[in-house]
Amino acid sequence: MYPPEFVKRIFKQEYIDADGLMQAMNLPAPVSIRLNRNKWNRPPAGEDSVPWSESGYYLEKRPSFTMDPLFHSGCYYPQEASSMIIEEVYKQLKPKNEGIRILDLCAAPGGKSTHLSSLLGKHGVLISNEVIRSRASVLAENVTKWGLGNAIVTNNDPSSFTELKEYFDFILVDAPCSGEGMFSDPAVRNEWSADNASLSAQRQKRILSDVWPALKEGGCLIYCTCTFNPAENEENIKWLAEKTGSESLTFDLPAYADIQVIKHEGITGYAFYPGRIRGEGFFCSVLKKPHRDNVQGSHFVNKIYNPLTTFEIKTAEMIADCNKENLFRSDDTVYSLALPVEEYFFLKKSLRILKGGTTLFKSRKDSFTPLHDLALSLLLRKDAFYSSELDYSQSVKFLRRDTIVLKSVPEDWIILTYMGINLGIGKNIGSRMNNYYPVEWRIRMSESPSKDINLIEWV
Ligand code: SAM
Repeated sequence: MYPPEFVKRIFKQEYIDADGLMQAMNLPAPVSIRLNRNKWNRPPAGEDSVPWSESGYYLEKRPSFTMDPLFHSGCYYPQEASSMIIEEVYKQLKPKNEGIRILDLCAAPGGKSTHLSSLLGKHGVLISNEVIRSRASVLAENVTKWGLGNAIVTNNDPSSFTELKEYFDFILVDAPCSGEGMFSDPAVRNEWSADNASLSAQRQKRILSDVWPALKEGGCLIYCTCTFNPAENEENIKWLAEKTGSESLTFDLPAYADIQVIKHEGITGYAFYPGRIRGEGFFCSVLKKPHRDNVQGSHFVNKIYNPLTTFEIKTAEMIADCNKENLFRSDDTVYSLALPVEEYFFLKKSLRILKGGTTLFKSRKDSFTPLHDLALSLLLRKDAFYSSELDYSQSVKFLRRDTIVLKSVPEDWIILTYMGINLGIGKNIGSRMNNYYPVEWRIRMSESPSKDINLIEWV
């Protein structure tokens, strides 16, 4: 059953085949994942790829992500297929080659942030923000597992970004919305009301107004929702375009004819309707900020760098391409920040930063502790530590933070791998291995690893 007011509106709405849409949303939503090609390049066996993403794949059956060590090592992320269109949009925006600054404003749990982190690579920095504290922690966990080291995670209200004037080249606003595109989940349907949908549209306006000053002249704001509601989609974008004199951009998507192009009073949006595309409901539209005169952007000073210190030498032993400008020590913890230290402190004046990049190790006079963030990071040099391959059941034990015993490995720090990919780190003390998997991330499911678990099969 769909809410009657939703049904009434959807039948009147341009572009939509209401019957087809509602039938499609009575079926379970398609399952899809996106690979982290920097860690894992094997596609799932016999599965279709998502047409608009080079790393996206549908899965016929929903696997047990929680019981899959490769999920915990950041080899892939379960992400709804329609939303992977930001890849095509980002590529067509032809970002410059270096120093790009991207804000993902409403980022938890991290589907689009991990995607942007991959698309951005070494060309810049992603600021991945989430306003709700508990959700921001999950975001930080997923960004850590992804391991690219080019993202920082913040926990702020959109209004905190207003003062970062003209700082970002791109801003993604994946706005909280009425969620109509996810009505295949009955819980989302039950929460819907016309009043909530209209409150949602108001909230989106507030979010967009707050963050707009942080976008550079000529920069682009990518706006998305997972609703069909015009008030939250094209009407909001039209409102912002008029208020700011910005241009609504069009994209070349002929290969994906089933994506609906929405034209609305000078605005172009792209809509994904279940039944027509293999994915959930989604909307995306991009505005380009006009150039104006006399705008004062955000500035920070890049200082000359000091000579090598002990912690820098230690770091260079552990991470490849060690960028000294980004190295930072606070008390006994050493970080490889995603951006130069001065820029980090510039952001810290306005933002609550939960994760500034990669946390490498703790170092006191007589002790040295490498951290989990380092173990999962692609910055880690292969030869920095001894490593030991675990089988499936040992891997699950490790992820549960149980004690494991390793044979024929030195009494030292050991990187634990599963199918060749780093899962974490432990310290072998002979009789057992001390497990350093983060307590708050451990698998809590009571399912036994020996039971028939449905895992993805890889090519
Ligand atoms: N981008 C995420 C992803 O791809 O995994 C999904 C984001 S979800 C659609 C919207 C996010 O906005 C939620 O994490 C929610 O907590 C956050 N949010 C809720 N109220 C907000 C507000 N007033 N301002 C900014 N973000 C808000």
